[in-house]
Amino acid sequence: MNPKKLSNAELLDRVKALAASERAATSALVSHLAELDQRRLYLAEGCSSLFTYCTQVLHLSEHAAYGRIEAARAARRFPIVLEKLEDGSVNLTTVTLLAAFLTTENHQRILGAASHKSRRQVEEILAHLRPQPPIPASVRRLPTPRSSEVSAEHAPATRSEPGSPMVTPAPPIAAPPPQSRPVVCAQAPQRYKVQFTATAATVEKLRRAQALLRHQIPDGDPAAIFDLALTALLQNLAKRKLAATDRPRESRGTASGSRHIPAAVKRTVWSRDGGRCAFVSQSGRQCTEVGFLEFHHVTPYAAGGEASVENIQLRCRVHNGHEADLYLGLQGAREKRAVYSVVRRRVVTRTRSRPSGQRPARRSRSSRRRRSGRTAAAPDEATTFDIS
Ligand SMILES: [Zn+2]
Repeated sequence: MNPKKLSNAELLDRVKALAASERAATSALVSHLAELDQRRLYLAEGCSSLFTYCTQVLHLSEHAAYGRIEAARAARRFPIVLEKLEDGSVNLTTVTLLAAFLTTENHQRILGAASHKSRRQVEEILAHLRPQPPIPASVRRLPTPRSSEVSAEHAPATRSEPGSPMVTPAPPIAAPPPQSRPVVCAQAPQRYKVQFTATAATVEKLRRAQALLRHQIPDGDPAAIFDLALTALLQNLAKRKLAATDRPRESRGTASGSRHIPAAVKRTVWSRDGGRCAFVSQSGRQCTEVGFLEFHHVTPYAAGGEASVENIQLRCRVHNGHEADLYLGLQGAREKRAVYSVVRRRVVTRTRSRPSGQRPARRSRSSRRRRSGRTAAAPDEATTFDIS
């Protein structure tokens, strides 16, 4: 009904009813997201994470997605969260703040204490749960004032009396500077503001680059130098990780049945797939992931798949794992991976005993896997090559 046609009393009642139905809808969405997360259904829908699914398929804002996912994961552990979201005693912000601190023993008490509390009050509850050490006083060097700011006529208050020497104020004890976060934000079409805190060593490198590039960039524009530096970095990374080269050798091909993916195949596949995961869901949605990409055998190596341009595609790490799980069967995958991890460790040991300089990328990939504690690769992944 058109709100303009409601009486004041009716309007107040209607708004309360709508707020209640919004809470009920949010609670229902959170509980369904929890189940979708558990089943990892976002993978088959072409998303590398639940967050990507929420923002790109459900079109939630990043903030809304974050709150609902945090609440969904808390609700999986403590279903009472759903009831409290629905009756309005806690909201998504409260659950997001408290989620990491809830335990089987304390969740009833803490959620009760946080009922109908403001963010600030919930943060006070948090302060009791995780007391922080006192912030040490810090003295910050202030920017050198310009000469006009300290001249006699502009700073009469700093004189104790006419004719006496200028009194230099003691350096103020300033609050610690706010945490400087890197910033990349659009300012105009095709123009971005990029801001970050650099070390003294980085600034020194910038100065040296400005000096060496004086003929090419007379005004020493940091944005132009940053662009040149990133271009050089990307070329370097492509050479190291993508087997890209200015003078490609003719491929020697690969022996039938070999796991080795020739450099020429990698270059063609990377270029064809546009440097992003090529997983496509049944509904036709392509994954947008561009990080942690791997070369994937469409027909698995174990099933006779060749390391050819036709049979190799880019996959993000989760979709490569997802397809390995599909191939191996979800039940059998874990056992086979465990067996494979033993084989893989032997391979790694043998690889390590090679003279240095041989197959460095494979070693680094193996060591990164061990650091992250990730399950060992499925057989198909073993033929892939980490390029990010
Ligand atoms: Zn993907």
